[in-house]
Amino acid sequence: MPHPYIIAIDGPAASGKSTLGRRLAECLGYLFFDTGVMYRAVTWVTLQRGVAVTNEPAVTQLAETVQIDIRPPSIEDGRACDVLADGIDITWEIRTPEVERNVSPVSVYRGVRQALASQQRRIGMRGKVVMVGRDIGTVVLPEADLKIYLDASAEERARRRYTEVIKRGEKADYEEILAGVRMRDEIDSTRAFSPLRAAADAVILDSDKLNADEVFAKAEDLCR
Ligand code: C5P
Repeated sequence: MPHPYIIAIDGPAASGKSTLGRRLAECLGYLFFDTGVMYRAVTWVTLQRGVAVTNEPAVTQLAETVQIDIRPPSIEDGRACDVLADGIDITWEIRTPEVERNVSPVSVYRGVRQALASQQRRIGMRGKVVMVGRDIGTVVLPEADLKIYLDASAEERARRRYTEVIKRGEKADYEEILAGVRMRDEIDSTRAFSPLRAAADAVILDSDKLNADEVFAKAEDLCR
């Protein structure tokens, strides 16, 4: 039986979408595309240029002009890919608490979403792709052959994010991470344009009750 040609995985922050998406893409020989890095890159450029994140026209203009590149990893330091903005490697810079705090407010802007979603759609429509985000099954690639919505409680997601940060050798505060996850959930799911929600035809998987291998096994089944 043929595999689904376009796979969309959506869900809230730290629900395990990237882990699942990367594994599925590897297993199928498809391109893995994490759209969150694009919103993070625009946020990083905004902060780096001293533009106020509340300045919607200026942030939108940055989103329309910044050259974001996602390439295979050039360094073996735990990265899944290189992320470049106008040629500068910002792979780890986009994971800082400052970017994390500001990425959801930036992602609310309609012009930012339009600029990034059109690039995502162009890549997704080539097929053989696993695309991960918040609005892939609903807005970016509504024609996806398989849509998965990966959910988990805020507490479980914060615990995972906490472990990730500690593993990287950085300091972390669980309560702070939990508050951040809740804040992003709230902004991402209540915004006017392409809010986070499961598409009507998405299969919902709850990763509170399933570990990464079990989630992968379910998704693999769905691909068959
Ligand atoms: O997935 P990740 O946590 O890296 O996404 C960072 C932020 O980017 C999300 O909290 C959300 O505000 C935004 N985002 C989005 N639409 C997407 C992917 C990410 O709004 N498709």
